[in-house]
Amino acid sequence: VRLYVEHPLGLGQSVPLSREQAHYLFGVMRMNEGGEVALFDGKSGEWRAEVAEAGKRSGRLVCADQTKPQMDPPDLWLLFAPIKKARTDFIVEKAAEMGAARICPVQTKFTNAERIRRDRLQSHAVEAAEQCGGTFVPEVADMARLDKVLAEWPQDRQLMFCDEAEAGAARDLAMAATGPWAILIGPEGGFSDAERARLKSMPQSHVVSLGPRILRADTAAVAAMTLWQQVLGD
Ligand code: SAM
Repeated sequence: VRLYVEHPLGLGQSVPLSREQAHYLFGVMRMNEGGEVALFDGKSGEWRAEVAEAGKRSGRLVCADQTKPQMDPPDLWLLFAPIKKARTDFIVEKAAEMGAARICPVQTKFTNAERIRRDRLQSHAVEAAEQCGGTFVPEVADMARLDKVLAEWPQDRQLMFCDEAEAGAARDLAMAATGPWAILIGPEGGFSDAERARLKSMPQSHVVSLGPRILRADTAAVAAMTLWQQVLGD
């Protein structure tokens, strides 16, 4: 069993469990005192911990030894226009598994979703990190309008702008400026002409095709992160 905890970890550290975590460990997994759990806090690597107290709604673990050092992902942001709930959940889960450092839902002209439940998406990111063995949990940002995001765009961050209407090759990104990157995936309706023009005018923007077919936004997000990993990631 592997759990993310907000409590800082360290040798001999006592770690209280939330009600949900206690229910999961002692109710669902039937674990008892002395049982072993892998813990990570997003900053201190992974630790082997033992159950010191097992209650119905509470519990406590004690860190025994560190089993993995902290491994932070490359500084990659994934910007995407939220789609239907299940597909948005999928994008967040896969972005966390693939090592995005920050996941940013953006509202574009043709984005249908008015709102997102940031806390729900953040808990999907935590579950994905627990499952994939990472020691880092990406932050899910609040939804922001694309024009506002672009107006505040950091000077040194490159943007892999994925657009089915264009023909840029991902392999050329390796020749582009170095520095941190972001990937942008549009909504089901694609980008508007004005958004395309704005994006193409940015010096940090590099337009990329993901192949000759139109991919669904969730497929496009996974394909783009895979390409980015291959060409620029580590
Ligand atoms: N506007 C399109 C249409 O209705 O014909 C479809 C948009 S597509 C479903 C959603 C997003 O996935 C796009 O905005 C783009 O970011 C990305 N995408 C899908 N297929 C792509 C491709 N072949 N190359 C680059 N990006 C792609």
